[in-house]
Amino acid sequence: MKIGFIGLGNMGAPMAANLAAAGHDVTGFDVAGATAQGMTPASSATEAATGAQVVITMLPNGAILRDVAAEVIPAMPEGAILLDCSTVDVDSARAVADQAAAAGRLALDAPVSGGVGGASAGTLTFMVGGPAEAFETAKPLFDVMGQKAVHCGGSGNGQAAKICNNMILGATMIVTCEAFALADKLGLDRQAMFDVVSTSSGYSWSMNAYCPAPGIGPQSPADNAYQPGFAAELMLKDLRLAMQAAGSADADTPIGQAAADLYAHFVEAEDGKGRDFSAMLPRFEKLTRN
Ligand code: NAD
Repeated sequence: MKIGFIGLGNMGAPMAANLAAAGHDVTGFDVAGATAQGMTPASSATEAATGAQVVITMLPNGAILRDVAAEVIPAMPEGAILLDCSTVDVDSARAVADQAAAAGRLALDAPVSGGVGGASAGTLTFMVGGPAEAFETAKPLFDVMGQKAVHCGGSGNGQAAKICNNMILGATMIVTCEAFALADKLGLDRQAMFDVVSTSSGYSWSMNAYCPAPGIGPQSPADNAYQPGFAAELMLKDLRLAMQAAGSADADTPIGQAAADLYAHFVEAEDGKGRDFSAMLPRFEKLTRN
């Protein structure tokens, strides 16, 4: 396929390189001048989009996505697909989809999980919102860049799935960390706590697959001095998007709000920036009730 790729950062560059390595004709653009292996560089987003059957964007936020979409949609051929893989707010995803539809183009919102490791290895998971026919056309590209793509329904539903998942993840990571810190103070051995909880009703991905306590459970960032992994500031970004969506949809999300507030404090007022999101455990270890 002829693909335009816009946003060649930590995630975009390896995704574009995997598409090129699979034999697709990839033309890419990044404002910072970044490139990717096997790809033809373009001097503007418009140039990358011209003649492309699919234009993929991997950008920092919804405001930038809206700007880039306004620029590239008119340059795309009729019926071409704008495939946004960034994590952005649901409202921006739906606004871009409306704009594409009004111009006779198709749009998919397809945020990912799997991080930079998954982008490089081609093992991302895509959560996809938008028209079914566009999902079918893009399916071979998801298969190159990832291991799984789930069609979640109409436009914006991919972003909705991503932020709901990450709201659960942020909240369960916090409560797993505070439970370990409480167990310490109660004299309960961490390994015993893991052995019980990981096979009892308190189990979760945070406990079982990504245990925040060093030396316990499978290998995780806790075993690597809490180097990310999934950085606390990226978790904060997703929790803020979840709270923004909850505000727009008038949904009551008190635990999501508490998680957003805690990660904001951790990243902005403490030492959380640049650390894995599971570094909440050493944070709680240091704290007392007051
Ligand atoms: P990044 O900052 O490394 O890359 C973003 C790129 O977009 C940069 O190279 C930047 O120069 C470029 N850019 C900005 N404005 C542009 C414009 N107007 N035109 C062209 N290029 C432009 O970020 P990243 O880590 O690659 O993340 C990209 C997206 O993926 C974000 O929405 C992020 O939330 C999401 N995401 C990241 C991860 C991760 O682990 N890094 C995991 C899942 C999802």
